[in-house]
Amino acid sequence: MKDDFSIKGEVITALEAIDDPEAEESIVDSHLVEQVEVDSGVVDVILVMESSRDRKERFAIEDEVYDELEAIAGVREVKVKTMTPKALEREARGESPTPKRSEAPKPSGTPSPSGPGPGPKGGGGPQQAATPPSAPIEGVGKVIAVASGKGGVGKSTVAVNLALALQKQDFRVGLLDVDIYGPSLPTLLGVEERPAVSNRRILPIEASGLRLMSLGFLMDEDSPVIWRGPIVTGIIRQFLRDVDWSGLDYLIVDMPPGTGDAQLALAQTVPVDGALIVTTPSDLSLLDAARGLQMFKTLNVEVKGIVTNMARFIVPSSGEEFFIFGDPEQVAKESERLETPILGEIPLDTKVRRGGDEGKPVVIGEPDSPVAKAFMDLAEKVAQVQPLGDGDDGEDGKKGLFSFLKS
Ligand code: ADP
Repeated sequence: MKDDFSIKGEVITALEAIDDPEAEESIVDSHLVEQVEVDSGVVDVILVMESSRDRKERFAIEDEVYDELEAIAGVREVKVKTMTPKALEREARGESPTPKRSEAPKPSGTPSPSGPGPGPKGGGGPQQAATPPSAPIEGVGKVIAVASGKGGVGKSTVAVNLALALQKQDFRVGLLDVDIYGPSLPTLLGVEERPAVSNRRILPIEASGLRLMSLGFLMDEDSPVIWRGPIVTGIIRQFLRDVDWSGLDYLIVDMPPGTGDAQLALAQTVPVDGALIVTTPSDLSLLDAARGLQMFKTLNVEVKGIVTNMARFIVPSSGEEFFIFGDPEQVAKESERLETPILGEIPLDTKVRRGGDEGKPVVIGEPDSPVAKAFMDLAEKVAQVQPLGDGDDGEDGKKGLFSFLKS
């Protein structure tokens, strides 16, 4: 068997033959190759590219690296990780929670692999995760799960309109629909495309300024939904890891209703910055919401707030308000008992349903309506409880990696 040292030599020669189209020289000469490690035939390559680089170009380079290196005799596996210079700097300073693979320790205070990570299951401290440390999604600011105890309370409607409202507030937003029982994102946004796959990566669909991925894009309408635990887990992992989400401030995840494998898979795969629980103020749905809240606590995901939906009805002609559904007092009491604030109150409005049916959610279809304003208020609160940037990113960090495109 070939030794790692000679494989490394061949790897570097192969990398020198790959062109960087932007620099018109080899990716080694243009300093895109940050690190090469070979361990028992497993090649780890770290590439570094500006976040502004065209993602198709980035994929083309990564694919070529995979193809060339996999063709070298003695190579058992190739792992390519692309980082932005900023992320690389942070990791070198030991600030990134991303666990290192076979990287040699860097001189400047790299944390030990067991470092600040969570302890084993049931460790006791409030900040300790019940699951193994999960690596964040490269290039994504915050992951927010939108959940509900039961179906039909308006969870998907809230997820879509919240995503659009955040986007209107100048954030870069992605929306991932993992509601395996009824993925509704394609209908809600009127998207019929299928996502493109570039060799090893799924490209999210871009519509209404959002990056989107949904099981609904991949399923035939009449395919039976009988996925069980491990398949659900696999799908969710793949949607989080193999889809190019880079350059987002927020990834909103529309969860399936209830408490189950999907929630567990999400919490185990990526750090979730917060969850919202959508509920109507009826007794049963409140009870389910409390259950959902408890489950997220167990998974150490902070529930940022409750969103009540369809409690009020605003008479279009007069603007008069009626409470039509359950008891708003009870929701307030429940929110106190669960020590979780009510972050949003979305009135019942036929425009919401119409917008959903027509593929034009109310936040963009009727932006001046009171119900659209309720979604904008919710987005503001979400952004307040989730300030972006970890202190050293300045304005860029605040408004997302690609905010310069908007100026
Ligand atoms: P879930 O994701 O919880 O199953 P959906 O978002 O699919 O629920 O909503 C269920 C139905 O209720 C949809 O027809 C939707 O248009 C409607 N709906 C949701 N929120 C409202 C609202 N605030 N006003 C009127 N209709 C609504």
